[in-house]
Amino acid sequence: MRELIGECQQCGKNVYCENGFFDGVQENGKLLCNECADEKNRHNGENPEVHNLIDAIRGIITASFRCA
Ligand SMILES: [Zn+2]
Repeated sequence: MRELIGECQQCGKNVYCENGFFDGVQENGKLLCNECADEKNRHNGENPEVHNLIDAIRGIITASFRCA
């Protein structure tokens, strides 16, 4: 089962929910595909502590997102 959630706000790619797994990230109400979210994390990753914090927050966001 594949459900279109919306477009990545960065690259415009369609973001889907497949079998209950969300193929992207929602941040501050913005939808990003996994590629753009990873890219963003790399830019923020210059400071390892900040990088770890972002990873932790991203995990919470991903874990709390459930779709049908
Ligand atoms: Zn994208």
